[in-house]
Amino acid sequence: MKIQDIHVHVLEAALTQPFAYSQAWYDTRAALLVEVVTDDGLVGWGECYGPARLNAAVLEGFRPLLAGADPLATDLIWQSLYNGFRDHGQKGLLVQALSGVDIALWDIKGKHFGVPAHRLMGGPVREHVRAYATGLYRRRDGDPLKYLVEEAEDYAAQGFTAMKLKIGFDYDQDVAVTRAIREAIGPSIGLMIDANHAYDSVAAIRFGRQVEDCDIGWFEEPVPPEDLAGYRAVRAALSIPVAGGEAEFTRFGFRDVLQAEAIDILQPDTCAAGGLSECKKIADMANAFGVRYNPHVWGTGVAIAASLQLLAVLPHNPPSLNPTEPMLEFDQTEHPVRMAVLTEPIRHENGVVAIPGGPGLGIEIDRDALRRFALA
Ligand code: CA
Repeated sequence: MKIQDIHVHVLEAALTQPFAYSQAWYDTRAALLVEVVTDDGLVGWGECYGPARLNAAVLEGFRPLLAGADPLATDLIWQSLYNGFRDHGQKGLLVQALSGVDIALWDIKGKHFGVPAHRLMGGPVREHVRAYATGLYRRRDGDPLKYLVEEAEDYAAQGFTAMKLKIGFDYDQDVAVTRAIREAIGPSIGLMIDANHAYDSVAAIRFGRQVEDCDIGWFEEPVPPEDLAGYRAVRAALSIPVAGGEAEFTRFGFRDVLQAEAIDILQPDTCAAGGLSECKKIADMANAFGVRYNPHVWGTGVAIAASLQLLAVLPHNPPSLNPTEPMLEFDQTEHPVRMAVLTEPIRHENGVVAIPGGPGLGIEIDRDALRRFALA
């Protein structure tokens, strides 16, 4: 079996209501799906987490290098693409594009052997994962103390047992919103906060101290990803676990994060940090450092399915009769493309998601949706 060609699908949809995180407003959602086609008719799907049009350009550069390669030789392909561009792209766009290809190859590998990807990665360690709701973004209109509390109550009513709040806007308002949500959802539901690196370590520590009594599950990206000393300072000053990693890449990048003892919970994005091949290696390395791993997930059902395949094989850290389990980040914000690309949407039931058990990623793609959302 050989790779015949790759097809790049850039998808986009406008939102009915824009929303903001600490760095930008969203008024559209974009996605990039990679389709790898083999000479014996198998098709594999992957997704890249990154600026879709720029990732697409990198994938065009990969195309001639992939043609004729053995799609089952996932490590060999990873190493040759990474090394081929190493001098120009150890992080960012290049690794994001590589991630999408790698995920598509695991989809092909699973389909070739007729088993889900996680079977070929040594699993399943688990067949269900608890999902936490990612949402609680800011809107153009309304009082965040009102609409965010209502949104949090809605996630609790849907059965979610944990949720994540965006902070990094107005400092005092962020404190008030964090406290209001904790009060509204009660003590038994997990609440995490995510600054998307809007603070320096001084502000992050001050903020953390003001919400330290709110039982915060983790403080995500308190400071910019390059500021490992800042991460260490926040970690040393607060009792809240510090999380991050969606803007870090490959075993090499995470080696440095782990050696710096900068982060309690690693959050590589499977569609950005190097795909399923690389993220399994990063997870095993995190295990050796005694650091938790919870994948960052932000994309369509393809990204979610790939993350679920990885979640199925993440090692217990440490094992016990009742070990701490990794969670699925389940984005609940408006995303017209997210589940439309799947013939069968991925759903949670009372905040729990089943790992897809079909071959490869365990999903089928709706080609009508690809046409509907294709960038003109
Ligand atoms: Ca985040």
